[in-house]
Amino acid sequence: MTEAILVLNVGSSSVKFAVYAASDPPSLILRGKLAGIGTDPVFSAQDAAGQISPPDIFPQFDHAAGLGDIIPDLLRWIEAHRGDLTIRAAGHSVVHGGRHHMGPALVTDALLAELEALVPLAPLHQPHNLAAIRCLAASAPDLAQVACFDTSFHRTQDRLAQLFAIPRALSDEGILRYGFHGLSYDFIAGTLAGHVGANADERVIVAHLGNGASMCAMRDRRSVATSMGFTALDGLMMGRRCGALDPGVVLYLMQEKGLTAGDITSLLYEQSGLLGVSCISSDMATLQASDAPEAQLAVDLFCYRAAAELAALAASIGGLDILVFTAGIGENSAIVRTHICERLRWMGITLDPAANEDHATCVGMSGSEVEVLVIPTDEEIVIARSTLMMAAA
Ligand code: ADP
Repeated sequence: MTEAILVLNVGSSSVKFAVYAASDPPSLILRGKLAGIGTDPVFSAQDAAGQISPPDIFPQFDHAAGLGDIIPDLLRWIEAHRGDLTIRAAGHSVVHGGRHHMGPALVTDALLAELEALVPLAPLHQPHNLAAIRCLAASAPDLAQVACFDTSFHRTQDRLAQLFAIPRALSDEGILRYGFHGLSYDFIAGTLAGHVGANADERVIVAHLGNGASMCAMRDRRSVATSMGFTALDGLMMGRRCGALDPGVVLYLMQEKGLTAGDITSLLYEQSGLLGVSCISSDMATLQASDAPEAQLAVDLFCYRAAAELAALAASIGGLDILVFTAGIGENSAIVRTHICERLRWMGITLDPAANEDHATCVGMSGSEVEVLVIPTDEEIVIARSTLMMAAA
């Protein structure tokens, strides 16, 4: 029997999963996704070598399937698929851990109650993350479960970096800049020394550019400042989210245009960003392939905003030695990297065009002041390691 760790990342309409052998370090056995939950579920999975398992052995789900059906079926499928697997512990990506969790936590009833109280701070993600924990507990009550928070990595920040300039009573209540994408930043911080040696402890900015996008300024591989704030709306322009916005716009939408809180939530989280500006797509690859001027405008605004945020973050660490691009856009879009870096030449950032086109690991011009790297992120392995550590403790 192979003892295994299950990693789950559950969103509003998808369940991403990965299975690792519970070895130190954990080694990947399988990863997959069930997308389109509630509409048209599509299951996919592949092993560590990237081999796609034949679809005829995939579990079948209909559009009415909820997490309560999906999770037990997924567990059965994983164990049956290999025949020799027994899941020893499960780790979850949980968007919000609040002010105090600086690392992963073993799931208990008390922890669940604490995380439930944070739902208003992350209403689009936290309920799904917690529902997955509950469904798994219902179908496998003896399984150790570990919550790994997207906010934890940023808890090293000074108070100044976490404060908004609002009345102090509100800050004391918890209206603070929490920051997100911490599992991705944790992974990059952990691998950076393998690429740049002791320079990993210098002034580093990681640009996590995916459907959700943020940046993190690090010193000594710890978070000093980040572009996302109280919610995952702030900072960079994203696929569907607006990024930083004058709060006066929200007041205007309410007072002059009569929009409700629900309308504004949908406008800022779902209808803005690349989709809102282009009116074509929220997908960067689609926009890059389009000749429409609106597509170009959306890509240009994405890069303009990213360069501006990057320069602002550099101020928090007194300059920049290493820039890392990661996530779907950061890893795959040579055009976006070029546009962002061209705006930042004055900071000593110069790309090597051929290395950039090849998506090489080192894409900076040799001898330029700032090293520029492309490092694929891996949030699942961070969760698997934490789960193994916590479950063994
Ligand atoms: P998520 O935040 O959902 O995990 P990803 O990190 O997978 O998202 O990033 C998805 C984004 O990456 C999409 O906008 C997609 O178009 C973009 N992307 C992926 N491959 C490419 C590519 N070759 N060129 C440009 N953009 C790409």
